[in-house]
Amino acid sequence: VVGSIAFDSVETPTERRDNVIGGSATYFSYAASYFTKVNLVGVVGGDWPDAHTQLLEDRNVDTAGLVKVDSEKTFNWTGKYLPNMNDRETLDVNLNVFGTFDPVLPESYKSTPYVFLANGMPAIQMSVLDQVESPKLVVADTMDLWINEHRDSLLELLKRIDGLVLNDSEAKLLTGHENLISAAKAVLDLGVSFVVLKKGEHGALYVSADDMFVLPAYPTEAVKDPTGAGDSFAGGMMGYLASVDDTSAASIRRALVYGTLVASYNVEDFSLDKMREIEKSDLDIRFERFKSAVNFT
Ligand code: AMP
Repeated sequence: VVGSIAFDSVETPTERRDNVIGGSATYFSYAASYFTKVNLVGVVGGDWPDAHTQLLEDRNVDTAGLVKVDSEKTFNWTGKYLPNMNDRETLDVNLNVFGTFDPVLPESYKSTPYVFLANGMPAIQMSVLDQVESPKLVVADTMDLWINEHRDSLLELLKRIDGLVLNDSEAKLLTGHENLISAAKAVLDLGVSFVVLKKGEHGALYVSADDMFVLPAYPTEAVKDPTGAGDSFAGGMMGYLASVDDTSAASIRRALVYGTLVASYNVEDFSLDKMREIEKSDLDIRFERFKSAVNFT
C-alpha cells in the first residue's frame, strides 16, 4: 500500500481528538494486517514518533518503504463530522512532507502481487505502480481534492488499474451522474474492471461489467469516529484477497464482507484505537452474525 500517513485532528458532535495517528495508508495497513503481511510505502516528518512506526511493525507491517524526513512535518488533516456522523467537512489539510514525496520502492516490495494505491496524489500512486512488477491486482482509492485538482492524472491512472474504491459523493463528482448505478457504470467506462462505491452507513455497492453485489453496513449503534472507515474497508478487502490469493467473484464478495466488518470495528473508536483491541477471531464472530442478518430465502 502507498498512501498518506497522518496526524489527524477530528471533531465529532460530542468529542474532539488532536494529532492522533491517521492517514489512508495507516488505516489500510492496520486493517489488512488481520489477514496478511503488508508492505507500506509512505513518508513522515521529524515529528513522527518511532513508537507509531513500531505499532505498525508489531502488526506485521513491513516499514522498509516508510521514509522519515527529519527536516519536515508529517501530513496533517483536520475534519469535523456533521450530527449525522456520515458527512464531514475538511477544516484544514497540510500536505507537508507528503506533498513532495517521490516514492522509491525497496527491492523486496517490487514483486508484491496485491497493490493498493490508497488516497493520495495520483502522481504518487502512479509512480508506485510504475515500480511494481506484474502485480495480480491493483486497486486505488481517491477523494474530492484529487478529483477536482488532479483530474487529468487521475484519469490516466484509471486506465492502468483493475479496481477503484470511492465514496458515493466522489463517484458523482468524478462522473457527473447522480444515480449511483449510472455513476458506477461511468467509472467502468473510464477504464477500470470494477468499482466499489462506499455509502457510509448505507454499505457498499460492487459493480463490474458482468456482476453486481450490494452489502449493507454492519448494523452498529456504537459509532464514535467514522474516520478511516473507507481505508479500513479497503484494507480488510485487499488483505482478505491477498490471503486467499484468489480474485474470483465469490472471493471478491467475501472480501467485501471482511472489509465491511473491519470498518465496522474501526468506527467504534478514534484513530486505530478499536482495531488495536480486536483480533481476527472477532472479525469471524461478526462474519457469522452479519451472514444471518442479511440471509433470506
Ligand atoms: P477515510 O475516512 O477512509 O476517508 O480516511 C480518512 C483518512 O484520510 C484520514 O486519516 C486522513 O489523514 C486521510 N486524508 C484526508 N485527506 C487526505 C488527502 N487529501 N490525501 C490523502 N489522505 C487524506
